[in-house]
Order: sequence, then C-alpha cells, then structure tokens
Amino acid sequence: MGSPLGKLHLMKTYPETIVDGEGFRYSIYLAGCRHHCPGCQNPESWNPLCGVLVTDSIIDDIISAINANDFLDGVTFSGGDPFFNPEEFGYFLHRVKKETKKNIWCYTGYTFEELYSDEVRRPLLKDIDVLVDGRFDQSKYNPELRFRGSENQRFVKVQEELRKLRKEEKKFEKSSSEIDEVSHAC
Ligand code: SF4
Repeated sequence: MGSPLGKLHLMKTYPETIVDGEGFRYSIYLAGCRHHCPGCQNPESWNPLCGVLVTDSIIDDIISAINANDFLDGVTFSGGDPFFNPEEFGYFLHRVKKETKKNIWCYTGYTFEELYSDEVRRPLLKDIDVLVDGRFDQSKYNPELRFRGSENQRFVKVQEELRKLRKEEKKFEKSSSEIDEVSHAC
C-alpha cells in the first residue's frame, strides 16, 4: 500500500509516560480535532496544521524508538483527535501495530458506536486494543478518574466488542435468510 501521507501533523511524542494508559507507554499526539469540547485542556490541538508534517521517515524513527525500548508496555495515540484524518492516521496506526506488535490505546472524541457506523473510520478499529472514547464533558469532569477526564468517557476493549458485533451480525444474517426461505416457500 502506498503512503497516503501529506496532511497529517504530529504535535509531540512522549517516549515514556505513565499517564496515557496502563504501564509504560510511548505516546503520539496528532493534530486536528473538530469536537471543540468546552473545557478542552488542549485547544491549540484543534488546528490540523499544529506541529510538524508526518512523513514516512518520522514514522520509521518512532517505530525504531519503540522497538528499541524493552520497558514499553504499549503505544498510545492521542491529540487532538487521531480520527480527525482517518486515512493518514489509519496508515500510521497500522504501521505501528504491525511493526511493533505493541498494545495500542487511542483517545478519541468519537464514541465507539460512531466509529463503528462510519465506513471510513471503522476499518481502523482492527488495530486498536483500547479506545478511550467520547467527548470531554465538563459537567462530568472528575479529577479522581484515571486515564480519562470525564465520567462519560469509556475504556472500550475494541477487539472484544468487534467479536461480539460480528457474532450478532452473523446471527441476524442467519435469521434473515431463514425468514427469506419461509416467505419464498409460502
Ligand atoms: S475531543 Fe479531546 S482534543 Fe478534541 S476538543 Fe474534545 S477534549 Fe479537546
């Protein structure tokens, strides 16, 4: 697959952090967010041109740094909202997942359900282990929460949810085809 890069901007990376998910993580902050949640801690991240343009060579360097650090438990994508620019983020995400095999967390203002029902963003879910989802809601802010800002935000075990949804879809397809057979027999 050719590189679709050309617009995606990287704001910063943290090579070792313990605040963006379980364990020691390498965090990658991508620019651009259209949710504009009141009370957002990082409104400069809304600008998709904030930071530097992501190139294959930047991704290569990040992957090498991750693979060189045996202490890392995983990688976290945050922002901004990484899903702001799905095509380029999907490429970056897939390379990191495939070439590091690390556990991946991703922060997003979209809910899991919104991403799942979006044909463009849905395919990206296959490379994410934990999604911290939903917009920041000031009225549900709780400083005691770990790894999230407001109580509406959830930790979604993405692969488990996808398995459940696939099972339900299969069940639905089976029962629809049974109904079809009965109606054709009438
Ligand atoms: S989704 Fe995150 S980055 Fe975007 S406005 Fe809301 S809190 Fe800020």
